[in-house]
Amino acid sequence: MEITKTQNSRISSVDFDNLEFGRMFSDHMIDMSYKNGAWQDPQITPYAPISFHPSMHALHYGQAVFEGMKAYYVDDETIHLFRLDDHHERISNSSERLCIPKMSKDAFVDSLEELIRLDHEWVPKKFGHALYVRPFIFASEEYIAARAAKEYRYMVITSPVAAYYKEGFNPVSLTTTDDYVRAVKGGTGEAKAAGNYGGSFLPAQKAQKEGYTQVLWLDAKENKYVEEVGTMNIFFKIDGKLITPKLGGTVLPGITRRSVIALAKEWNVDVEERRIAIDEVFEAHKNGTLEEIFGSGTAAVISPVGLIHHKGNTIELDREKIGPFAQKMYDTITGIQYGKLDDPYGWVHPVKVG
Ligand SMILES: *Cc1c(COP(=O)(O)O)cnc(C)c1O
Repeated sequence: MEITKTQNSRISSVDFDNLEFGRMFSDHMIDMSYKNGAWQDPQITPYAPISFHPSMHALHYGQAVFEGMKAYYVDDETIHLFRLDDHHERISNSSERLCIPKMSKDAFVDSLEELIRLDHEWVPKKFGHALYVRPFIFASEEYIAARAAKEYRYMVITSPVAAYYKEGFNPVSLTTTDDYVRAVKGGTGEAKAAGNYGGSFLPAQKAQKEGYTQVLWLDAKENKYVEEVGTMNIFFKIDGKLITPKLGGTVLPGITRRSVIALAKEWNVDVEERRIAIDEVFEAHKNGTLEEIFGSGTAAVISPVGLIHHKGNTIELDREKIGPFAQKMYDTITGIQYGKLDDPYGWVHPVKVG
C-alpha cells in the first residue's frame, strides 16, 4: 500500500472538547481507483480536495454508495473498529445493487487498519466520543451516458465526533407522512445508496417545520406498516417482546439493528422481525402494553423515541428519559465497542497503534 504522509498535521487545531459532527476531517484518507476492469491498490494520502471533470458520472446519475462506522479509543495502544466484516458485506451488497464492482475484503480491512494506525491520535479519548469513519464509492468516469460507469473511486475519510448525547438522552419525536415514501420493494431502499438520502431531505424538512425530529417511514404500498426512520432502524418493546420491522428490500439492514437483535436473544427476550402496522403500535399504547420505542444506528447507537404522530393522533412516552431496556442495550453495545465489556461475539476488530 502506498502511503503519503502529510507534512503539516492539522491535529493541533482541533478542539476535542467542542467537536461538531462531520465538519472536521483527519489528516489522511484512503483513495482507491477502479479502472481497466479491476480495483487498483489502495493508497493513503493527505486529506485534500480532489479534482474531477464536470462530466463525472456520479454527479449526473447518482451511482454512489457509502458506509458509516466508528473507531473507538480503548487505550493508547488499541483502537476498536466494530463489525468490520458486516460493513464490508453491506458495502458489497450496496455495490451490487448500484452496479458497482465489488471490492475485496482484504483491501477494505487492510486500508482501514492502516488509516486508523496513521491517524490514531484523531480518535477522541473520552467515552462516548469516537472517530467517525466514512467509506464511500462513486462513479468517477468522465462520461455522461446513462449506463453503469467503467471507472470508480473508493475513498475513506474520518471525522472526530463527540458523544451523540452530551447531557443525557434526548428522546426524538417522529411523524409519519402521507405525501412521500422512502423506499419501494425492488428499489434501492436496502442499499446504502447516496440517492436514498437526496430524496429524503424535503420530507424531513417538512416534518421539522411541524416540530418533529424526523419522519417515521411507512411502507410505500399501503402506508400502513412501519419501516424505519431513514437514518436508523426502529424497535418497539410491547408486552415484553421486542418487535422490529423485518428486512426484505425496503429496510436498510442496520448493523446496530443486528447487534440489538443478537443481544436481546441472548437475554432471552422474544424478538419478532415481522411486519408491524402503525395501528398496532397505537393500539398497544392504548391498552398499556407499549413499553418502549427506540431507534438504532451507528451515530447514536440507541435513540429513545418519545413521541410518534400519525394522521392527527399522537403517542407520547416519557419524553424526559430512556426506557430501561434501551438503556441496557446502549450500555452493553457501547461497553463492547469501547472494550469495557467482554466481546463473546467477535464484534470488535482491534487495531494495534502506537
Ligand atoms: C446507515 C443506516 C441505518 C443504520 O445502520 P447502522 O449500520 O446501524 O448504522 C438505518 N437506516 C438507513 C437508511 C441507513 O442509511
